[in-house]
Amino acid sequence: MTGRRSRLVTGIGELVTCAGPDGGIAPDDLAAPADERLGIVPDAALVVADGRVAWVGRAVDAPAADERLDVGGRAVVPGFVDSHSHLVYAGDRAAEFTARMAGTPYDGGGIGVSVAATRAASDDELRALLAARVAEARALGTTTLEVKSGYGLTVEDEARSLRLAREVTDETTFLGAHVVPPELREDRAAYLDLVTGPMLEACAPHARWVDVFCEPNSPHAFTEAEARRVLDAGRAAGLGLRVHGNQLGPGPGARLAVELGAASVDHCTFLDDADVEALAGAAATTVATLLPGVEFSTRMPYVDARRLLDAGASVALASDCNPGTCNTASMAFVLALAVREMRMTAAEALVAATVGGARALRRTDVGRVAVGCRADLAVLEAPSYLHLAYRPGMPLARAL
Ligand SMILES: [Zn+2]
Repeated sequence: MTGRRSRLVTGIGELVTCAGPDGGIAPDDLAAPADERLGIVPDAALVVADGRVAWVGRAVDAPAADERLDVGGRAVVPGFVDSHSHLVYAGDRAAEFTARMAGTPYDGGGIGVSVAATRAASDDELRALLAARVAEARALGTTTLEVKSGYGLTVEDEARSLRLAREVTDETTFLGAHVVPPELREDRAAYLDLVTGPMLEACAPHARWVDVFCEPNSPHAFTEAEARRVLDAGRAAGLGLRVHGNQLGPGPGARLAVELGAASVDHCTFLDDADVEALAGAAATTVATLLPGVEFSTRMPYVDARRLLDAGASVALASDCNPGTCNTASMAFVLALAVREMRMTAAEALVAATVGGARALRRTDVGRVAVGCRADLAVLEAPSYLHLAYRPGMPLARAL
């Protein structure tokens, strides 16, 4: 919906702004309760001009516009902001998922299968696979998508992954420190030198963020000291910081993310009281990004989201769509899991999947329907946002 012409979107049975009823709740106002932040406007309309929201209000008050789109009483919500995905890869790991469901535990080792297939794929093959995955996400209501590298793990393959990711999103993340690649398993120090040296140098021009799988519980991932080195180097190269932490067991990831001022620590499956306290204290800086699709697909325990929310942490929901541990980009599914399994309210879950994701990406122009924001909207085949959790698995949301 770009261009000079203005467009009136009307017939909105329920508009959820995620910015309060008059757009006045700022994205960083963590004190606003989720119910209030939703800012539901019944019988609403909005005007889009030049790709931005130009007016929001009751349909009866709507100004004239060049074009008109009537959504027939459907609900409209901010497009989902999926702040964590791994979409640049080739190959298929359905057999690994099936084995896991039959009892084989997950330790991060299957990533090597995707690495081999990704290295073997041509640019055009990877580009086509990525484009199809982005189209799937959009068709499910996602309008902002962070995409990580991490299945190349050579200088050339990581830089290529990020170059391709940049073709579909500005939110690109260098994840050379995903796992130590098989060929350097006996020489971790050499791989760390590569990731923090030539690989970073080749990747930084195509990336906004650097990320690391900080997980002492996996022999394939990185220790606290290694993760610190990766993040320090990324920061020195001008990248913002993100951390995969506390996924497979208790660990240093969350506290390291807080200490270094990372935008987000993702997973947070195993947090102790000190981790929760640290995240609550750093709520203005570091978001706890929860990825319940992973718990679903690995049969791990769900995060105690209530503990984080009640302590005052800033919480986002994201898909972690990836070939190994969660192969779905459906934010509606993630939201339903958050409500069903993590005891988030439907309001908290929608806020976490929109403005929460925006916070995790340090963006104020997405995740809300307010004047000046990008006109990134999702329309629901439903009269209310409540249906997202109430009708799991149904194709309700699509990008408008
Ligand atoms: Zn991930």
